Amino acid sequence: MTCCILWFRQDLRLHDNPALQAAHRTGLPIVPVYILDDKDAGEWRQGGATRWWLHHSLKSLEKSLGNTLVVRYGPAESVLLDLAKQLGAKSVFWNRCYEPWRIKRDTGLKAALSKSGIQAESSNASLLWEPWEVLKQDGTPYKVFTPFYRRGCLSAPPPPLPVEAPKGLKLHSRQSALGLETLGLLPTKPDPRWDLKMEQYWSIGEEGARRRLREFLDEGLNGYKEGRNFPAKANVSRLSPYLHFGEISPREVWHEAETAGLSQGAEADLDHFRSELGWREFSHSLLYHFPTLPREPLQSRFLKFPWAKHDPDLLRHWQQGQTGYPIVDAGMRELWETGYMHNRVRMIVGSFLVKDLRLHWHHGEDWFWDCLVDADLANNSASWQWIAGCGADAAPYFRVFNPMGQGLKFDPSGEYIRRWVPEIGGLPDDLLNAPWEAGPLELKEAGITLGKTYPHPIVDHKKARDEALEAFKATKDDAVNS
Ligand code: FAD
Repeated sequence: MTCCILWFRQDLRLHDNPALQAAHRTGLPIVPVYILDDKDAGEWRQGGATRWWLHHSLKSLEKSLGNTLVVRYGPAESVLLDLAKQLGAKSVFWNRCYEPWRIKRDTGLKAALSKSGIQAESSNASLLWEPWEVLKQDGTPYKVFTPFYRRGCLSAPPPPLPVEAPKGLKLHSRQSALGLETLGLLPTKPDPRWDLKMEQYWSIGEEGARRRLREFLDEGLNGYKEGRNFPAKANVSRLSPYLHFGEISPREVWHEAETAGLSQGAEADLDHFRSELGWREFSHSLLYHFPTLPREPLQSRFLKFPWAKHDPDLLRHWQQGQTGYPIVDAGMRELWETGYMHNRVRMIVGSFLVKDLRLHWHHGEDWFWDCLVDADLANNSASWQWIAGCGADAAPYFRVFNPMGQGLKFDPSGEYIRRWVPEIGGLPDDLLNAPWEAGPLELKEAGITLGKTYPHPIVDHKKARDEALEAFKATKDDAVNS
């Protein structure tokens, strides 16, 4: 009996999954497949934390599919063609991805399938609006967020309502598949494995995603607009890894947030939360229209920016949360421990790397790529360009985050810093962001020996800031058009 193939990619869910709906409509038995394609991904093969997440996400999906998921490793085109021929499959369904390497691969694959007489159909499951649907009146892509979102997205037809998981799915009985373990997605070293501690923070998979959404809408949405800036508060959704892997549909998040926001009388919070989903759309649009985004500054004048000579020691201090600036160290340790970092703190640590240390933003981008469970090519590269000031609609380079001021303002009681940098927790609140300003008695009382139990600052912020601004002057002003 003939069948069709459903190729899962970044849509690891059964609800509101258009490719699954399309496969189901054929009435044919469905062979669900996941292919780990490191070869085509090249430099952008998934990092350690996303591989760990992917393992658990596939495990959860496998369970939802009654253990019929076929898992393969290799270049997707040859794997899919072989599988389709072997099964006598008439059609292949998938949901679109927007990474340049995937677009290139999928275009070739569609042609190859059609040449073999196999129908290929792709749908949109990841975005609220397709990047080619939101364009300026002259047909060119937006480079500034506010008009992109307000004039482009919000004046386009609203995202369709999410669709329930199909009932009575006809799944093909298990093919001779590699077991999930053979993909080797879990780390094997160092010992103890870093991933084991991350398990306590997440409930991975579609069910966990929908539960997280519910919790956020019930407990975090009201107050989001202000609360989202405070890393110790529970006002952010932490949905980013679920959205990245497609364990939840952005349309479901969009519409459920509307129902909850309106019923709670939290319109301003709702608008703000939706605009953050809008930033996700914007990043994907930038990546689609400017495929060099992950490596090349959108503002070409930054090609000649005088980055400091690379210093692996400074980079290591930053990566390990040992810079001597408590809010920076707290963020970097949160990232290492949980695979996530609060957005406000991402901005602070990012600014510290590219401005205080004047290390190239690629170093930050690469570290985040490896450590974040939500590492996403569009969001990560657009955000690093924003931080470095070289992106389309970026923080101006001359705006340098002051780590002490940011800590005082957004973690006033020191709850976040004390959680992640407990060795300085005994300092009074007003000194928590600048331990070097504490007197010998205060340090002694808090059990701190600077340089031993907690590092001296690795750079002087004021001096580093002046040098960064001086370096910035060296870039010629040929700013990007808006
Ligand atoms: P919420 O505040 O609850 O927002 C809801 C959703 O909106 C998020 O889940 C996310 O999908 C989207 N969103 C929110 N803020 C942004 C933003 N600024 N840009 C794009 N989408 C956004 N986000 C990633 O998903 N992957 C990354 O690799 C990534 N790298 C980043 C690197 C840097 C240097 C910075 C400053 C930001 C980065 N972000 C990245 C964006 C943002 O920090 C995270 O999306 C957000 O912190 C996720 O937490 P949340 O789900 O609780 O967000």
